[in-house]
Amino acid sequence: MSAAPPRVLTVAGSDSGGGAGIQADLKTMLALGVHGMSVLTAVTAQNSLGVQGAWELPVEAVRAQYRSVVDDIGVQAVKTGMLSSPELVETVAELIAGTDAPVVVDPVGVSKHGDPLLAASAVESVRTKLLPVATVATPNLDEVAQLTGVQVTSEDQLRDAASAVLAYGPAWVLIKGGHLSGEAVDLLTDGSEEHWLRAPRLDNRHTHGTGCTLASAIASQLAKGDAVPQAVTAAKQYVTGAIAAGFALGTGIGPVDHGW
Ligand code: PLP
Repeated sequence: MSAAPPRVLTVAGSDSGGGAGIQADLKTMLALGVHGMSVLTAVTAQNSLGVQGAWELPVEAVRAQYRSVVDDIGVQAVKTGMLSSPELVETVAELIAGTDAPVVVDPVGVSKHGDPLLAASAVESVRTKLLPVATVATPNLDEVAQLTGVQVTSEDQLRDAASAVLAYGPAWVLIKGGHLSGEAVDLLTDGSEEHWLRAPRLDNRHTHGTGCTLASAIASQLAKGDAVPQAVTAAKQYVTGAIAAGFALGTGIGPVDHGW
């Protein structure tokens, strides 16, 4: 018998195409040597062309999955992804408020194809219920705009974006500046320390699942005992490799590769 690996829980939606969501989370966790577990919030019919349909699970089903996992197996880190509705956001926020484990919140808003993964009516619940219980929140620039109204068009505005998100109460925020032109630059800060993470821009359009993969990698590293800056640095390295190895699948945008 070998020792149990650290346990990481993803609370997120399913991507039937296997590129993002729960599927990307579990693959990331396997690649990084932790035991992945899942609380499913929604099911999407999805492929390389986009999301063709989405169905939320009942709040009781989400609550029951969470209790089953946490009460018996326990968690060393939690990651949240697609939460879809105000009811699900509030239920998940209430559940994770009761854990001592670090929580990585990926405030998923809209997919790369422009498909909504969070109802407009749920944005306020993300701001006021979910962000306050996050150890690290990982918004991209569209999500920053949706959550705070701050529009970032250049690197020197990333600090303002970070302050606006931190005002809602996460301990740390990682602003993902990847949609800016030039180098892919992210800012990690807790309001006092600043870490600027830079990576060369990769010429690969097969990037489906990037955000899920990064947040899951951070959670996996936190579960293994890294402090937040170390966890984010290692996760960024992992996702950069996964994007470089992203491959064509179907006729649209293919996924990042977890097994590089
Ligand atoms: N589908 C699900 C279930 C997701 O959780 C996400 C992102 O979090 C996506 C799709 C979108 O992935 P991407 O924007 O990388 O294409």
